Parts: sequence; C-alpha cells; structure tokens
Amino acid sequence: MAFTNNDDINAIRNKADIVSIIGSYIPLSQRGKNYVCVCPFHDDHSPSMSVSPEKQIYKCFACGKTGNVFTFVSDYEDVPFLDAVAIVASKCGMEFKRNITKQASTLFKTEYEIMNLAQKFFQNNLRTEAGKEAMAYLQERGLDEKVIKEFGIGLSLDSNDSLLTLLTKKGYDEKTLVEIGLVNNVGGKFYDMFSRRITFPLWDKDGNIVGFSARVYRGEKDVSKYMNSKESKIFKKGETLYNYHKAKDVAKRDKKIILVEGFMDAIRISSSGIKNVVALQGTAMTKDQIELLKKLRVEVVLCLDNDNAGLIASLNNGEELEKNNVPLGVIRLSGEKDPDEYIVANGKDAFIDNLNHELTFFEFKMNYLKQNKDLNKIEDQSEYIKEVLSNLALKDDVILREVTLNSLSKEYNVDVSVLKSQLESIKPKTTKVVKETPVLEPTKKDSYMKTVEKVLYFMMNGVEYVEAYQKKVGFFADEIYREIANEIVYYAEAEKSITVADFITYVSDKDSIRDKVMEIVNESVNDEVNMEVMDDYIQAILKVMTKNEIKRLKLLMKNELDVDKKMKLAMQIAELKKEDV
Ligand SMILES: [Zn+2]
Repeated sequence: MAFTNNDDINAIRNKADIVSIIGSYIPLSQRGKNYVCVCPFHDDHSPSMSVSPEKQIYKCFACGKTGNVFTFVSDYEDVPFLDAVAIVASKCGMEFKRNITKQASTLFKTEYEIMNLAQKFFQNNLRTEAGKEAMAYLQERGLDEKVIKEFGIGLSLDSNDSLLTLLTKKGYDEKTLVEIGLVNNVGGKFYDMFSRRITFPLWDKDGNIVGFSARVYRGEKDVSKYMNSKESKIFKKGETLYNYHKAKDVAKRDKKIILVEGFMDAIRISSSGIKNVVALQGTAMTKDQIELLKKLRVEVVLCLDNDNAGLIASLNNGEELEKNNVPLGVIRLSGEKDPDEYIVANGKDAFIDNLNHELTFFEFKMNYLKQNKDLNKIEDQSEYIKEVLSNLALKDDVILREVTLNSLSKEYNVDVSVLKSQLESIKPKTTKVVKETPVLEPTKKDSYMKTVEKVLYFMMNGVEYVEAYQKKVGFFADEIYREIANEIVYYAEAEKSITVADFITYVSDKDSIRDKVMEIVNESVNDEVNMEVMDDYIQAILKVMTKNEIKRLKLLMKNELDVDKKMKLAMQIAELKKEDV
C-alpha cells in the first residue's frame, strides 16, 4: 500500500487545516506564527507541542512526536492511517472513498472466516424451534432481543457435530477447527466444543471474533457453568478486554471507562445504556490490558465483584494502573455479588447512583486499610494512622495531604502538627518518583550527519531542492539516509511536487524509514528553507565526501604493488585535493 499518486488523500490534506483539526481535540493558543498546546502523546503539563499552519505539521519538543494531520488523528484516536484519513475528510466536509483496498491483516483470514461462520450459525440456531428454550432462558434473565443481537448471543445445538459438519462441508479441515477451539478431538473422533450451550462471542481489540464463552441453560449440575475457548493463535485472553472495540469510542467521548470482571457484567451495564464498559474476564490484569486502557487516555473506574477477591483485585489492579499514571476511580457495590446481579436486583438508577459517587483510589485504599481493624482500640487506631501516613508519603498532592491530615486529626483526636512531623519522617528520602515520560534520547550525531539530515529536510520542501541534491550530491553513504533520499527523489518525480506534510503521508506505512523521517522533520521544522542555505549544506557535505574519498584512495595506493596503478591513484588524489579548498 503506497500512497503515491493518491490525489484523494493529498487533496483532503490540502483542504484540512491542521490547526482547526488538532484544535477540535485539544485547545490551542497562538504563539508567533505557530500554535502551541499540551502534548497528548506524553504526560505533558506545559504546552510542549507546536503546530505550524505554514508547514501543516506538528511537533513535540519533549517526546519528539511529529507528523501531519493524519498521523495526529491516527495516534490520537488510535485508528489505522486510512481511518484517520476518513475522519479528517468528514471533519472538513469531504468524502474519502477508499479506492485503495484496506490491507486488513490477512494473517488469520481463514481463522476469522471460520469464526464468523460459526457465529452466524450459532445466532441462527437461537432463532429456530430448537432455540426456543434457550431464548426463553435469556429473556427470563432480562436479556431482550436488542441485547441478544447487540452482543451476538447464540446457541450451540444439542447435536454433537452440527457445527463440525457445516464447516467441513465448506472445506475447512478438522485440524484448523481444533486449533481455534471450535471442535474437540477425542481419540481421533471430532465433536463440537460447545454443544448444548448458549454462546457469547469474544472479540479481540479490533473487533474480530476470536473465541466463545458458552454457558449451560437447563440447570445441568455435573458440568461447569461456563466453558471458554482455549487460547489459540487468534485468541490471547491477556491481550483482550471484553467489549473493548465497542466501548472505546464512547469512553473517549465520556472520558471514562468502567472495568468489570465478567462479560455478563459488561452486557448488563451496557444494556442499561452505559456503553463505556469493558470486562477483564477474570480478576488479574495483564500488561497488555493495561496498555489497552492506557491508550484511551481516560479515567478507569474499577467496578469489580463484591467479594473479597474483587476487593483485593481492586487494590492490586488499581496500584498497577496508578503506576502507569492512569487516572482512577473505584466503585464498591454492596449486597449482590457482581454488577450484573446488582442491576437486576436494584435497577440501573441505583447503579448510576454508585457511579456518581465513585471513590478516588486513595479514598478506596484508606477504607481498605480500615478492614479487619477494630478502630475503637488504641493499637488498631495507631496502626491505621501509620498505614495512612505511609501511603500519603508517596503522594505529591499538597491538597490531598492537607485534607487527609485534617480528617485524621479530627477523627482520632491527634494534633495535626504531630501527624505532619510523623509524615515528614517517613517521606522517602529519594527525590520524588520520576514520572514515566518518554524523553528523546540525546543521540550522538556528528556535524556531518546533522548536515545530511538538513539536506534531507530541505528536499522535502520542494522539487528544486531535490534537483539540487541530484545534481550536486546524488548519493549518501549511510544506508538509512540513502534510502530516505531515494524515497524523496522517487516521490518528487512521481508527484512533480513535494511538501513535508504530504511526504509524511507517503512514509506513514514505510516502517524502515518513517521514524527517522519524523525525527528529521522534528529537528528542522522551524528552519528557514532557502537555496542559499541548501548550497552551504551541500558544500559542507561535498567536503566530507571528498575527504573520505581521498582517505579511501590513499589506502588503496598504500596496498597497490603495480607502479602504474599507484601513479594513477596518486594523480586522482591530487585532483581531489585541488577541489578540496
Ligand atoms: Zn509529547
């Protein structure tokens, strides 16, 4: 997928004003001829991002992010490049027809195809005569037709091989069906995995069906209630959050995502009209799941089960998220065992009321510390106060400190000054924890490399600079620079024009050079571009190139035994030295 000759994309970029598009996501303020804003791509507190209306690109001084209007939307909304093009198009009243077929991952095409067939089959079963009992069960549980459809709930029939027969007839082999967990191999005989169960499809983060969770519905006693797809090449439990693909847009809009344990909790909350909910499918959270949540850049509200496991999971997951600088809130429901049962018993308004009274993670932790303590006893009081203080010592928030100390003082009748001095004594001696901010590694570049990068940047600014390079330099020895130069030349010849912003579109799918191009743009975007400066750079490069050539020839001469050839080399060197003045 190359974006050259794609006039559509360039036309959209030309019409879109980067200042108003970025401004539709975050507030911008004008500074000189540029605009500045807080960078959304790192933990920024002062405006580090600068947006250039002239060049139609943005750059962050702190984390080094650079790009054009499409890369911004792609990164901000966490969508593929071509989706970002479509979003930008609609924001400026244009339509983007994808005449380039989207390169969907063809990697597991067959597996996804099979999963979709199985899903259609299950969904259809539920609506047949054989599905009546299951349908009645679902409706009794308060899951109406709309919810059943929205979450793709289906039924695996009583037969042991109806799905197997369907799929093998379509030409899929048993081995693949076993691999992706739809079919079981028992001593060489194949059976449907989920017979006699209601099926709930499981999606990956991009919305592909990668597995199923299936539950019994006739009150069977001697089998486990739920059966889940085993891990496979398409289903990695720790890399998914149930309902993520559907919830993420609403979460970004509402700046909040609710995290629950089971998928039934998510379905129930969602069917109450609260769509920004995802389920862990368990209590422990993996690094990949944290990354998925972090990417949303919204507050995570933990709403785990009401049992002790859920309490401890709230604490552990909360601490992990806090370490990752994810804003956090906690809800602890009382009475029923999970949000699903809570809503069934108390209604959605009661749940929403809980949502409106969420605790901060700190408040939750303070309540947690009170557990298993008899706070009427002096020893337990003192223990509790010490634990609160040692948690507080890790916090930089001055107001939080003040408020907590005051309330402790009132509640337990201890003088604030005593609490303060105690807090000071346990404050970590090391300087405060450095926040995980990606900062540009100061790369060691010699002045030659810097000059080469300047030339490359100038070349992205107009065909006249490309021609100057071709005429006077024509070649860079370092591979990455050579490759970038070649791509610029290729692009300029194909398009008959070049701008930095359009060239960024062109390299956005070229993994080998994209980051380097962005780095070059980031470092040079505020430079004044004119031919005089370009010539200076070219002269400097030629000098180095000549010096290197002389070095190379001298080495050849030293090792040459043939007198004539030696002489020839000496003359070549003399010639080069004449140039090099
Ligand atoms: Zn940044």
